[in-house]
Amino acid sequence: MVVGGGISGLAAAYTLARARQAGAPIEEYLLEGSPRWGGVIRTEKFDGFVIEGGPDSFLTEKPEAAALCRELGLASHLLGSNDRERRTYILHRGRLEPLPDGLYMLVPTRLWPLVRTPLLPARSKLSALAELFRRPSGDRADESAASFVGRHFGPAMVQNIADPLLAGVYGGDSENLSAPAVLPRFWRIEKETGSLTRGVLRARRAHRREAASAPLFTTLDGGLEELVRALVERLEPSRLLLGQKVEVLETGARQPKGRPRWVVRVSEGAAIEADAVVLALPAYESARLLARADPVLAQRLGEIPYSSAVTVAFGFESKDVKLAPGHGLLVPRQERRRLLAVTFVHAKFPRRAPPGKLLLRCFLGGTRDPEIIGASDEEIVGWARKELAAILGLRATPLFHRLTRSPQAMAQYTVGHLERLRAIEARVKQLPGLSLSGNAYSGIGISDCIRSGQAAAARALSV
Ligand SMILES: Cc1cc2nc3c(=O)[nH]c(=O)nc-3n(C[C@H](O)[C@H](O)[C@H](O)COP(=O)(O)OP(=O)(O)OC[C@H]3O[C@@H](n4cnc5c(N)ncnc54)[C@H](O)[C@@H]3O)c2cc1C
Repeated sequence: MVVGGGISGLAAAYTLARARQAGAPIEEYLLEGSPRWGGVIRTEKFDGFVIEGGPDSFLTEKPEAAALCRELGLASHLLGSNDRERRTYILHRGRLEPLPDGLYMLVPTRLWPLVRTPLLPARSKLSALAELFRRPSGDRADESAASFVGRHFGPAMVQNIADPLLAGVYGGDSENLSAPAVLPRFWRIEKETGSLTRGVLRARRAHRREAASAPLFTTLDGGLEELVRALVERLEPSRLLLGQKVEVLETGARQPKGRPRWVVRVSEGAAIEADAVVLALPAYESARLLARADPVLAQRLGEIPYSSAVTVAFGFESKDVKLAPGHGLLVPRQERRRLLAVTFVHAKFPRRAPPGKLLLRCFLGGTRDPEIIGASDEEIVGWARKELAAILGLRATPLFHRLTRSPQAMAQYTVGHLERLRAIEARVKQLPGLSLSGNAYSGIGISDCIRSGQAAAARALSV
């Protein structure tokens, strides 16, 4: 039994269905509480626009999402980002400054752009050069992303680059997010190489050919909901239960083999028994369902905080808008704006807007602005337009707007996350037949969620 029909639960259900078709003696079901599949993935298409309300793409270097798309017959629909125009701007003292070329996430790998960028003061540039000579150090168990990046490149790199990047990905705050959890690769490099810049350059040399040819992001021609539809189409309709919110998960009577079955209680009072249950839900929701079966586990799950996201997409006539070439912009906290980021969607991917039109998507909310989720549509759209006018000088009337709220959707891997995960895993091990998946544990991206759904299904099959 899989509970939760977002991408994690769909990936788990699909893995189970494949196993049954290959002869595994199982009867799998997928329960989703809302009236639609896909969770935060939502695509709307009209008049030649492809508008994402949730995620718009996956990182190409994480292979699970593209591999699943290929398996589902969507290979010809995969669409790479238009990296020739891959320039991201940072709002810095009211002006848009490009991120320096050669910046890999937050690690500078090219000298001249680093020297020239106005985003970092001279002292940070010197820290970045000195960083090249750091020796391996690995004595810390955990630390905030701000402290980690600050140790390597100084505070301006944190404020002007790392914090807005993390706010864009996690809707989170670099002072609270855990470096080993949200920057695991850099955390490893520090232990092995000492210098992040040396480590990144070394890895680049090893993968030069692939890195040169692969786009940074991949999406689907018709939007990410194509993946959701393809998964649902591969599942048997009689095993898909939509609009079935699970309220409680309990252990039932002991079976002859000595192991109790799980009892899944649904909102309408129905109780379904299962040997194995995959909870593909936000951690706070898994905590609620497990409060009776294992209060300690429920408490640890409830400790994983979440932030909310709001996106507003605007369509414009191209002739009305003058934009610098690039994929979008990020807004650091100290600029005191409500916008966290803006994606120039028409430039990031081909065929997102019809000829002669532009599509911009604004991100708001996150831990920086938790109240905005409760504001009215009019207020949010008004704020977004006002800030687009202030930042981009964009005063034209949009052709349309689309506002999407994703409440409590982004898990925050705060300091202590890995320790919390260990405690959760130890507890889950004591509950045979229970598996957890979703964005609360080991990666928030689409590929991470698919991997976690597949792994949870594999655990359920081993019962
Ligand atoms: C605005 C936004 C932009 C993002 N951008 C990107 C991006 O560009 N690239 C990327 O890789 N990732 C991105 N992410 C992250 C990624 O999209 C999510 O982490 C991922 O889709 C989460 O999938 P999930 O299945 O774990 O959870 P969800 O999508 O939250 O699905 C959980 C499902 O469980 C259901 N449910 C909840 N409670 C119950 C219950 N009691 N009973 C039954 N069903 C229940 C919900 O209705 C929901 O359908 C973005 C996220 C957001 C919100």
